[in-house]
Formats: sequence, C-alpha cells, structure tokens
Amino acid sequence: MERLKGKNVLITGASSGIGQAIAIRFAQEGANIGINYIGGPEGAEQTQQQAKTARVSDGREVLLKADVSNEQDVKAMFDAFTAEFGSVDVLINNAGIQKPSPSDQMEAADFDRVIAVNLRGPFLCSREALRHFLKQGKGGVILNNSSVHEIIPKPHYVSYSVTKGGMENMTKTLALEYADRGIRVNAVGPGAIVTPINSAWINNEKARQEVESHIPLGRAGEAREIASVFAFLASDEASYITGQTVFACGGLTLCPEFRVAWSS
Ligand code: NAD
Repeated sequence: MERLKGKNVLITGASSGIGQAIAIRFAQEGANIGINYIGGPEGAEQTQQQAKTARVSDGREVLLKADVSNEQDVKAMFDAFTAEFGSVDVLINNAGIQKPSPSDQMEAADFDRVIAVNLRGPFLCSREALRHFLKQGKGGVILNNSSVHEIIPKPHYVSYSVTKGGMENMTKTLALEYADRGIRVNAVGPGAIVTPINSAWINNEKARQEVESHIPLGRAGEAREIASVFAFLASDEASYITGQTVFACGGLTLCPEFRVAWSS
C-alpha cells in the first residue's frame, strides 16, 4: 500500500543513515522526495538510486545541497524543491551531528556548531515549511528526528543532549501554535541505531556488546525500523496525533537498570 502517494516530502541529511532509510521507505510509499545533503553528492546519489529501486509505481526525487544551519541555503533549498514539485506536504528534520567531549573541556565553537545544525537547522527548515503550508492552505506535516536523549541525559554529549531536549519543546510549541491550521508536528526518538553517527561502536564487537547490554530488546536498531515510524507519522493513519515524540528505542527509555528489582 502506498500511504504517501503523491506527497511531496523534503528530508534533511538524507545521504546516509536514518535519513537515507526514510527516503527509501517514503519512495516505496509513493512520495516525491527531496534528498538534502551537505558536502559531496555521492551519498545522496546512492539514496536516489535506492529510492528508485524501492518504488512500486511512479514518483520522483530531487537532490538538494544545503547546510541546514544556513538561512540562505535553506531558503534556496525550499525554492528548488517547490520549483520541482510545486508544493511541500511533509518536512523531515533529520540532519544532526554530535561532537563529544567532557563538558569542562568542550570548545565553545563545537557547542555552537551542534546547536546550529541540530536546533537552528530544524527551526529554519520548519519556518520555511510553515510559510509554504500556510500559503498552500491545506495543512502539512513536520517530523523531527529527536533521540532518547530528548529525555535521558548523556554525559560528554551536553551539546547534543540539549538540542534534543530543545527539539521536544520545538515539537510541542509548533504543534500547539499551528494545530488550528491543520498542521501536525511530531518527533521520533530513536535509541541506538546502526548508522555512521555510531561508527565508534558498531564495528567494534566489545563496544557493541556493551551498548547492546543496556537495551531491553537486546540489540541495536536498524535504520529501516526508524523509517517505518516516520512513514506512519507522515501518513493519514496518524491524522489525530500531534505534539508527540514516539520513542523507537528497544525499551531504552524504560530505565533498564531497574530490570532486576534492587530496591523495595
Ligand atoms: P548520520 O551521520 O548517518 O546522519 C546525519 C546526516 O546529517 C548525514 O547525512 C550528514 O551529512 C547530515 N548533516 C550533517 N550536518 C548537516 C548540515 N549542516 N546540513 C545538512 N545535512 C547535514 O547519522 P544518523 O544516525 O542517520 O543521524 C540522523 C539523525 O538521527 C540525527 O539527527 C541523529 O541525532 C538522530 N539519531 C540517531 C541515532 C542513532 O543511534 N543513529 C539515535 C537517536 C537519534
């Protein structure tokens, strides 16, 4: 079933990992896809190729180079997207980075860059999408790729953690502000997913076992298991859901250290 047939969907950071999986899944569901990327086009071209292969009927893709933290880039990206497809139906704020360091040693420039990509970027893209939604007058959907670190603190990653905490508030604030215009805003909170952002542990057996020992379902997640949640939230099957974060994390948000009763 193509639940997103004919929908025009812009996905940021879609040249790898979860963004790439979302693009492929949404193509399979019949959407036209804007594949945003930064740097060289190779990853985005790979996403496009796999999206074409996944399609069961028609639909198109467009490659959009832009740094989501740059206001002019974001405006030009939406101009190029609407020139290609005519309108915007769904925005997916997926692009994100992390720069770990003990907080007392964290460089201010690194802190600022994480905030710029993970929080300013989603704001700039959401603002542009909202302007199009309001002009088009037929509602719209914004979905944010948050994290379990929206609610779970992450030592050495304070910049990353605060962006995901901020994303929860942005999701709720925009959902409330635009609900009466038929615009839904939600987030997905992945746990530990096998993507390039986690290259530090995914190919290191010992480190991966350590990570997976904390996950109640006993394994890291796959990008396609996150993409399927995005597809549901973008579709009309989620027509009565707004302002929420859906955690897809193998149970990480359940306080796994309490698995065994250790206190009365
Ligand atoms: P990833 O590194 O493969 O994806 C991040 C993407 O963002 C890359 O394609 C990168 O090129 C792009 N990007 C970075 N800076 C950009 C910028 N300024 N403008 C445009 N694009 C930019 O890793 P991923 O795991 O797929 O991460 C995607 C999202 O998922 C991130 O927001 C991340 O915080 C979130 N997330 C990932 C996990 C996980 O375990 N992998 C868990 C929770 C949340």
